[in-house]
Amino acid sequence: MTRKLPIIAVATAPGKAGVGVIRISGQNLNAITAALFQKKLAPRQANLLTLRDAAGQVIDQLIAIHFVAPASFTGEDVLELQCHGGPQLLELVMKRCLELGKDEGLVIAEPGEFTLRAYLNNKIDLAQAEAIADLIDAQSEAAVRGAARSLQGEFSNDINDLIEEITQLRILVESTLDFPEEEIEFLESAQARQRLSAVKAKLQALREGAKQGKILRDGVQLVLAGAPNVGKSSLLNRLAGEEVAIVTPIAGTTRDRVKESISIEGVPMHIIDTAGLRETADVVEAKGIERSWDAIRLADLVIFLSDTHSNQGQDDLKEQILAALPSKCPVLEVLNKADLLDQSSKAELKDTLLISAKTGDGIEALKQKILEIVGWGGPQEGAIVARRRHLDCLERAAEHIAKSEEFAANGNNSLELFAEELSLAQGRLGEITGKLLPDDLLGKIFSQFCIGK
Ligand code: GDP
Repeated sequence: MTRKLPIIAVATAPGKAGVGVIRISGQNLNAITAALFQKKLAPRQANLLTLRDAAGQVIDQLIAIHFVAPASFTGEDVLELQCHGGPQLLELVMKRCLELGKDEGLVIAEPGEFTLRAYLNNKIDLAQAEAIADLIDAQSEAAVRGAARSLQGEFSNDINDLIEEITQLRILVESTLDFPEEEIEFLESAQARQRLSAVKAKLQALREGAKQGKILRDGVQLVLAGAPNVGKSSLLNRLAGEEVAIVTPIAGTTRDRVKESISIEGVPMHIIDTAGLRETADVVEAKGIERSWDAIRLADLVIFLSDTHSNQGQDDLKEQILAALPSKCPVLEVLNKADLLDQSSKAELKDTLLISAKTGDGIEALKQKILEIVGWGGPQEGAIVARRRHLDCLERAAEHIAKSEEFAANGNNSLELFAEELSLAQGRLGEITGKLLPDDLLGKIFSQFCIGK
């Protein structure tokens, strides 16, 4: 994945447009530039040039800009060709470039390879590289702004500050380990405990921010589960505000899960309506049921819906669902068909989240409850976007910090273990910005980019 050959790709989206950009990146592009345009281009200047085919026929008149290493996006020489934006035309330009760049080894770029090179040449760190993809994929204005902040390095700077504080703490501990004869109560004298608390608080704040950032980027996977006929499809329709699932009075008629994306106060919610989760001999229905289980395993929140009269068999089902959920996934119990209850029954159920998918009663309260549970703190100044990978790293770092705190409680006896946990926490944080990340994981992250990025 770290090949040195020059690479080329169309950087703009496929389709017709006024302008289409082709990018070439390599260690030294003078030879390719000379072959294409019979001249050396002054760096960073827009040059209006004509590109011809082997027979001398004009392919396009274009603007070429030569960014000379290291002052370019990738940190290598970059040649940017701003052509007219026709798919066939761009194909021809690509073909001609590959022909003339053959001796230099010019090859078509792999997905994300430009950004990968930028990362490998230290132009950006891994969190920033991911932010480029997130900026391009952003589904809302808030997500664009968050990705732009991450790309500017706001998230990375916070991570790096925290790593620095942990490093300072480690230096203190390790220098004490080197001089065991100095019988000072190290943890007290160096204010190590206070500093550890400060690290912990910062890490917690970062986790909160990243959690919001993940919601901003990915939205929330919300599973609507419950026995057949309790009103899941009706609730989905209510939340989505349109007919997306088939509603029928016959049990088990929702044959497959239906995925609908809605937005509650700007937060994207991907709602999966589970097929009636029950034993069945019907092959099609069984498939739908299997997919529902897959969705449940990935959920951020499960709404377990029951109705006011048919509670039979629902406890078993709930057990099954609880067993399949990711360990920290919250479950919200909601009782539907409140319109069928009289006032006194409603009064008895005052602690239950009661709704009526039919009349819309309680739906607004349900929406607010959902936002509260998934931890959405509302639109925030300075929000960044984050990925599950970042959250996982932060969480693991927090576990190591918690352990180091336990060892700190042991005084000087456990200083080595204390230092070891700090080092592990630091390593996890380093993975976010890409320090200490194995190559195969890097390859995986960049392969999710599209061609030309
Ligand atoms: P699902 O199998 O859980 O998806 O349930 P459906 O949404 O298909 O609903 C089953 C039946 O219950 C349909 O006849 C709905 O019209 C009815 N239903 C759903 N929600 C309500 C409600 O709030 N009140 C009443 N009275 N009926 C409802």
